[in-house]
Amino acid sequence: MTEAMHQVLVIEDEPAIRGVLKVLLEAEHYRVIEADSALRAEIESRSHKPDLLLLDLGLPDGDGLAIIRRIRAWSPVPIIVLSARTQEEQKIAALDAGADDYVTKPFSAAELTARLRAALRRNVRGAEQTGMLKLGAIRIDLEKRAASGPAGEIHLTPLEYRVLESLARHLGAIVTQQQLIREVWGPDRLGDTRGLRVCILSLRGKVEADPHKPRHLVTEAGLGYRLRADD
Ligand code: CA
Repeated sequence: MTEAMHQVLVIEDEPAIRGVLKVLLEAEHYRVIEADSALRAEIESRSHKPDLLLLDLGLPDGDGLAIIRRIRAWSPVPIIVLSARTQEEQKIAALDAGADDYVTKPFSAAELTARLRAALRRNVRGAEQTGMLKLGAIRIDLEKRAASGPAGEIHLTPLEYRVLESLARHLGAIVTQQQLIREVWGPDRLGDTRGLRVCILSLRGKVEADPHKPRHLVTEAGLGYRLRADD
C-alpha cells in the first residue's frame, strides 16, 4: 500500500525511453511525473516533492550533475542515475555529487525496480537515524563506538569507526572512494586511496564471516564501496 503512493519523477529527454519507464513504473504501482529537461526537473521536483528521482545524465539544457547539486542543496530525496555503459566517469561524478545509485542502460525492468525499492527503503530507514548496525552476527553501535560478535567484543580503531559511519550514512548506496576519503581523512588526502583500501581490508577481517567473499562491505568495482546491513 505504501508503494502504491510513491511518486517518481522521471527526468529523461528521449520520449521513447521516458515512455518505457512510465509504463514499467506504473505497472509497479508508482505514480510517474515526467520532465524532459533540467529546467522542468527543477520545477517538477519543487512543486510535486517526488519520493524519488530517476535521472538521465544527458539532457538538452544542462547536465545531470548540475541538477543533482541543485537538488541536493535543499532535498535528501533519493536520486537514481540512468547512465550509458560508456559514461563511467560521469557515473562517479554523479555519485560524488550526491546521487544514491545508478542503473546502466540498457536496463532490465527487474533491476530497475529493485534499485528503486532499495532506495525508497533506505530513505525511510535513514530517517530513523539509528546508530545500530547489524552485519550478520556482528552488532555495531556507532554512537557508543562498540562492536561485538559471537566471540565477544570486537576492537575497531577510530578510523575504522569513521569509515563505517560514513558508509552507514549512505546505507545500501554506493559511496565513492573520493567521498569516503573526503569524509574520513579530509580533502587534502584525496589522492591517497591506499589508506582507504587498507582500512577496508582490516574492517572486513573483523566484521565479515569470510573476508574474501564480503557480504556487507562490498566493493563496487571502479566506483567505491557499498555497506549492506541486515534489517
Ligand atoms: Ca538523454
